Amino acid sequence: MLNIQNLHARVEDKAILKGVTLDVPAGEVHAIMGPNGAGKSTLSYVLTGRGGYEVTEGSASLNGEDLLALDANERAAKGLFLSFQYPLEIPGVPALTFIRTALNAQRRARGEDEIAAPAFLKLAKEKAASLKIDFEMLKRGLNVGFSGGEKKRMEIFQMAMLSPRFLILDETDSGLDIDALKIVSEGVNALRSPERGMLVITHYQRLLDYIKPDRVHVLAAGRIVASGGPELALQLEAEGYDKYASAAA
Ligand code: ADP
Ligand code: MG
Ligand code: MG
Repeated sequence: MLNIQNLHARVEDKAILKGVTLDVPAGEVHAIMGPNGAGKSTLSYVLTGRGGYEVTEGSASLNGEDLLALDANERAAKGLFLSFQYPLEIPGVPALTFIRTALNAQRRARGEDEIAAPAFLKLAKEKAASLKIDFEMLKRGLNVGFSGGEKKRMEIFQMAMLSPRFLILDETDSGLDIDALKIVSEGVNALRSPERGMLVITHYQRLLDYIKPDRVHVLAAGRIVASGGPELALQLEAEGYDKYASAAA
């Protein structure tokens, strides 16, 4: 599904990714852990096509399609979804309007008809209820005045509405209390399916108690320096990243 080969990328002439190779088959959830500054967010931005990141070597494809040849909107339309570490606030644009626009852009890119208003509202009500989101909240400006937990829940709602083919969660656990963490995890787990892959980026092991990964990779200084099963996350929690920092240097 997601196939990354020897990916090198730089930001403002600074090399950040230095040869990342990673395969996430359909149906699997892979975690990426690593110290601050390792390049975890950079990897998610390079994959989703955010501006300012220059790929200098290597490749990345989704279902055999070259991601790096597409712009960010095209990647999103192909079903690649990135959950932000710091969600945007958009005053004046209700969450429902924002999501309907995104959903219709995705459908147009796939050659499908736009979703009719009644069908959209029905879907939104169902998904909001399952995520314990107050429907009235969806009529306010996107994320404006929302708490950290509410923003995260809103992202999971967007994700459930867009039904992405591949999703990347970048430190989606930061700033969440335990109740919000459970709701977010349940929302993510509900999206697990044999056709969908996920990359869960986290600095802490805690999230992985709720979203159980098939594989865990350690990213340090722009490279994957260790891979293993879920037990690797527990080992990292106990031992920290020190030995990987020196291995990467
Ligand atoms: P992580 O998510 O693992 O904490 P990041 O990908 O955010 O790491 O950052 C990796 C490195 O790239 C850090 O050293 C960071 O300072 C640097 N970096 C990220 N964005 C920029 C930028 N826009 N300009 C310069 N350096 C950057
Ligand atoms: Mg960081
Ligand atoms: Mg980061």
